[in-house]
Amino acid sequence: MAARALPEVNIDDKVFTLKYYVDEQKSHLSLRDPGLCLKCAQKPCLSFCPVGVYRLDAQGQVVVGYQACVECGSCRVACPLHNIKWDYPRGGYGVAYKFG
Ligand code: SF4
Ligand code: SF4
Repeated sequence: MAARALPEVNIDDKVFTLKYYVDEQKSHLSLRDPGLCLKCAQKPCLSFCPVGVYRLDAQGQVVVGYQACVECGSCRVACPLHNIKWDYPRGGYGVAYKFG
């Protein structure tokens, strides 16, 4: 049986349908040791996060824009140095998927 091609998905179109309830008082994810990221050669977090929460600043340090997290859970398992502390957002905060 021939494999069927998957439909193309534009992540920006999907993200546009989400609603965020951002907790400005408390981030639900953080780096356990930011210095450890400097020793991480591949920095896979820069590519496995579907919405670009992890970015490099001008000094080459990984910075976390937790407000954009869609709670996919990837960074709980995909950081090779287990350097990401991730919890669900507090009640009433986080992403809502019911808008699209
Ligand atoms: S994958 Fe983990 S250790 Fe590596 S740069 Fe990203 S957060 Fe830091
Ligand atoms: S849980 Fe998913 S969306 Fe949120 S920061 Fe981790 S990889 Fe990105």
